[in-house]
Amino acid sequence: RPVFNLTGTVLHTNLGRALLAEAAIEAAVEAMRSPVSLEFDLATGQRGERDDHLRGLLRELTGAEDATVVNNNAAAVLLVLNTLGQGRRSIISRGELIEIGGAFRMPDIMARAGTVLHEVGTTNRTHPKDYVAALGPEAGLVLKVHTSNYRIAGFTAEVTARELAPLARKHGVPLVHDLGSGTLADLAAIGLAHEPTVREAVAEGADLVTFSGDKLLGGPQAGFIVGRADLVAAINRNPMKRALRVDKIRLA
Ligand SMILES: *Cc1c(COP(=O)(O)O)cnc(C)c1O
Repeated sequence: RPVFNLTGTVLHTNLGRALLAEAAIEAAVEAMRSPVSLEFDLATGQRGERDDHLRGLLRELTGAEDATVVNNNAAAVLLVLNTLGQGRRSIISRGELIEIGGAFRMPDIMARAGTVLHEVGTTNRTHPKDYVAALGPEAGLVLKVHTSNYRIAGFTAEVTARELAPLARKHGVPLVHDLGSGTLADLAAIGLAHEPTVREAVAEGADLVTFSGDKLLGGPQAGFIVGRADLVAAINRNPMKRALRVDKIRLA
């Protein structure tokens, strides 16, 4: 049922989050009307890949080497953790072990992804040395998480993704940055508080960045994974990928 959103929360998960631009609605309706080249390469007449429709755009918009799309950002995080961290440790600050809405709780997602949660630092303060101490042979990845819906104030210390990137690289472990909202446009340009853009997260040195399609990006529900081509290729080889991929409406 259509309702009025008078909650004060513009992107309300329980009310369907982002409204789509008219052009996007028209494209989705159009895609529903006829067969489309979802996984068909019309140039070669061969089987294609659904990510082909978005890869070029996402590379252009974010500066990343490669990209893929799944159901939602929770699926993106699960898939990344499983692909890079299964049977190994995922290193994360205690202050970033967040819960988003009902069932998305980082420790639970890690358990389901088959990766071992290795928390570092304390609730309010985490230092570079905490990550360094955890970067042993069992480390599979370092995870940086945007604490989207809460703030820690007072006596605090956080290690930024920019600082983490060289530490992770030195130990040969990928840095994954879960940005949550993942805006593509700089909100400061329209007088709102600055939110880190995906392009910034890529430029700061994250090997993979994950973000939602229906938060600040303003699209249909989806989850994006952008970053290093070899890591995106590994994600695409994960048998779990097929269960999490998006449909033609969302690709439209
Ligand atoms: C919203 C959010 C998620 C989950 O994204 P969905 O698109 O709702 O699945 C994961 N991580 C962070 C940091 C978020 O803000």
